[in-house]
Amino acid sequence: MKEKNHGGDVIVAATRNRHKIEEIQAITEEFGMSIISRDEAGVPPVEIVEDGETFEENSYKKAFEIMKICGRTTIADDSGLEVDCLDGAPGVFSARFAGADGDDRANNQKLKELIKDVPYEERTGRFVSVITMVFPDGEVISSRGEVEGRLLLEESGENGFGYDPLFVPLGYDESFGVIDSEVKNRISHRARALEGLREKLRQREENR
Ligand code: IMP
Repeated sequence: MKEKNHGGDVIVAATRNRHKIEEIQAITEEFGMSIISRDEAGVPPVEIVEDGETFEENSYKKAFEIMKICGRTTIADDSGLEVDCLDGAPGVFSARFAGADGDDRANNQKLKELIKDVPYEERTGRFVSVITMVFPDGEVISSRGEVEGRLLLEESGENGFGYDPLFVPLGYDESFGVIDSEVKNRISHRARALEGLREKLRQREENR
């Protein structure tokens, strides 16, 4: 077996979201990689326009743009909610569904209004996360994770963020707003994308 590389690579996170950074760190540290935020890497506060049509495109764009600026391996997450009776909306527009970027209350309000006449059995959807790692030599590793569920018509619980209080994951009776964050972090779209990333990093190390 080849010797593993635990050389202490430092990976830059394209996100400023501490919670996302911690989840990513928990996985990548197994591979001797430590995560620093883009601010810690000295990346100026540039705005990356998320104009891709898929989570994959936006995730790659975020990672690639930050890698170009700092010249170091960068990891990005792009995520959102797909609702079946809305033909997959809000999808890549999840953060700015109601207009302003990241206004969770307004986003939930708009979603509730659009699905209020749809019966529970048809209010199906999923959270999606695509995690992409871009290396300075252009190598790309990407992984998608999803969690299926149903939408409520009223918010329930205070945990999490975004659409969590309206989303009941399959196999559970409560929303992500009620479910313990430790459980959410085990079954979530981001956890599953990170699982896939872990597997791909493992294969990459074995092939080196
Ligand atoms: P991003 O930061 O550009 O990936 O946008 C993600 C958006 O999707 C957030 O603003 C939320 O509205 C939604 N979202 C993504 N992941 C979650 C989650 O785990 N819970 C609730 N909402 C989420």
